[in-house]
Amino acid sequence: MREERNIEHRLMIFDFFYELSTPRSDFCDFSSQPVSGQVSILYISCLTMTIASSFKNKLYFCNHFSNLMKDTKEIHIIDKLGVNAGKKIIILGGMHGNEINGVEAIEQVLPRLKKLLDETTGQIWFLKGNVPALEAGERFLDKDLNRLWLNKHLQNQNPNIADYTALHALHDLIVNDICQGLFDNCIFLDLHTFSAKSGVFAIPAGNRKSLEFARSFGVPFIERLSESLPGTALQYLGQKGMTSVVFEGGTHQTPEATRNLTAGIWHSLAYAGFLAENLPEVVQSRQLLKDISKDLPHHLELTYRHKLDQYQNFKMQPGYYNFKPVQKSENLAIQNQQVIESPSSGYMLMPLYQKKGSDGFFIVKEK
Ligand SMILES: [Zn+2]
Repeated sequence: MREERNIEHRLMIFDFFYELSTPRSDFCDFSSQPVSGQVSILYISCLTMTIASSFKNKLYFCNHFSNLMKDTKEIHIIDKLGVNAGKKIIILGGMHGNEINGVEAIEQVLPRLKKLLDETTGQIWFLKGNVPALEAGERFLDKDLNRLWLNKHLQNQNPNIADYTALHALHDLIVNDICQGLFDNCIFLDLHTFSAKSGVFAIPAGNRKSLEFARSFGVPFIERLSESLPGTALQYLGQKGMTSVVFEGGTHQTPEATRNLTAGIWHSLAYAGFLAENLPEVVQSRQLLKDISKDLPHHLELTYRHKLDQYQNFKMQPGYYNFKPVQKSENLAIQNQQVIESPSSGYMLMPLYQKKGSDGFFIVKEK
């Protein structure tokens, strides 16, 4: 057994040194270095981290170091279209690194959108959220990026926390570079997915314009939910006066989620005035959102949030999904060997079926 392991180690070392002698462009991205001297720094960083990671996740570490060498804000920009003057819409995918569908939806919309927009007054920005977490395929690395949008975190410059780097870059990009303090002129659409099966819905920030934007999707929309989630970009930007909506498109990493999020983007671009209402993509997208929501309640409000401090000890009972009716006192989950009962009747929202998460479930009721 030990001998086998020794052979395995020797093979890994051989493999490693072989890679050193033949650096490949797909192994480390050297193409984006602004200064040629930094190539060697990157190269050394890659080697150090490769050794430190015991030969695991080489690609991740190399990509991560490659990204560090770029402008920290630049890595969050997928594309931008239009001119600086006028209204702005910011469409962001991947705030959580395991939610790749938002980025996929943006990439699906972009080629057609570029053909449609000859010239436009205003700007459309497509952003990527937690880039290191997206590369690692994790919801987040150290801290949930979508719970960090609070002054205490925004002022914390700890460079060792990767999620802080993403927070500061995105904050600076959205607040200063894009909106330039003119929040009334800025719309924020945050694309998400969830671990539960089925359902699509919108969450407005707590201002009137956000509520109207959320209502316009034709899918269920939930009031008072953003207020119960401190530290979300939704709430932070909404409080600054931006029209802000989270659009939850479906189950993580399913084709339906990408399709629904794509429809949400087309709808939003028309809603914001960048596209004609009668454009086939817009008409079809609105019909799709209407069809998939036809049996769901439309206007809801939050009645209960089951917040988790120790999510490791939480286990949702099987079979729950978004908008499944629940009765008061129904056995919903087990937490620390205790049964968690529903505090009221209503509908289930976002039951947690993944390891990482700060909320077990939400109960909503029709308004
Ligand atoms: Zn999310």
